[in-house]
Amino acid sequence: MIDTLDLHFLGAPRAIAAFLVRGPAGPVLIETGPGSTLPALLAGLAQRGVAPEQVQDVLVTHIHLDHAGAAGWWARQGARIHVHAIGAPHLADPSRLLLSARRIYGDQMDALWGDVLPAPVERLRPTTDGAVIEAGGLRFVAHDTPGHARHHLVYQLDDVAFVGDLGGVRRRGRPLVRLPTPPPEFDLPAWSASVARMRALSFRRIYLTHFDAVAEAAAHWDVVTELLPQYVGLVKTALEAGQDRDAILAEMTAWEGRRLAADGIPPGEWPVYASLGPAGMSVDGLLRYWQKQGQAAG
Ligand SMILES: [Zn+2]
Repeated sequence: MIDTLDLHFLGAPRAIAAFLVRGPAGPVLIETGPGSTLPALLAGLAQRGVAPEQVQDVLVTHIHLDHAGAAGWWARQGARIHVHAIGAPHLADPSRLLLSARRIYGDQMDALWGDVLPAPVERLRPTTDGAVIEAGGLRFVAHDTPGHARHHLVYQLDDVAFVGDLGGVRRRGRPLVRLPTPPPEFDLPAWSASVARMRALSFRRIYLTHFDAVAEAAAHWDVVTELLPQYVGLVKTALEAGQDRDAILAEMTAWEGRRLAADGIPPGEWPVYASLGPAGMSVDGLLRYWQKQGQAAG
């Protein structure tokens, strides 16, 4: 009933997924991927006999471009877009979203993400914690799960869940788990609390957008819980040692490199991991986090 669609982001397999859920009353799409992979998404749906106009409901875990960049296109097709209430205005008017993405990706923006079309407001379904979404004859429950972003939702379907980036990046067949910690909203205590809440729901299986199903959900949540303070601690220690951004970035890159090597990830695949969370972006998110902590303390 759940099909993982590989969007072949930048030509790489197992980087960005969308999920096709076939309900008794029609297909439901979880995540849209970016505009740049829309042809791959439509081809994947066509292979499974699904025409775009059959998709009446699209659920996005959050509004980052790798998850919801094509949401506007689907809204213009007439689909309802279910999205966190805080994120919804940015799908209607993506200008701020694009501005902050351009700060990270610069002149790579268009090649990476393709078109980002504004969604007609009347197609948006702003969603909050505990909301029940009836789609395709199925009942999805939305869980407010901040940490990676303030506007992040996990969608539960019976005893499985689509967890967006809350579970980080773990490509199918690879042991390595990486956590993208983007500015401006990365929040360590919020992320840890969200993981604890989801862990307590004992899902039988979780679906990571990057990439695919993880059957050992509890063990995976444990890895995320252990990793979070390592990311935060690396930057804290470096800041206390008086290092500047360049030095911290070099340290983060070296640490991630050691982890990639330790897990036996072939060097040819390292750029795929970088494309799903550039080290510079993660460092900036962590620096921003510590800056906010400092302001709160001072
Ligand atoms: Zn993502």
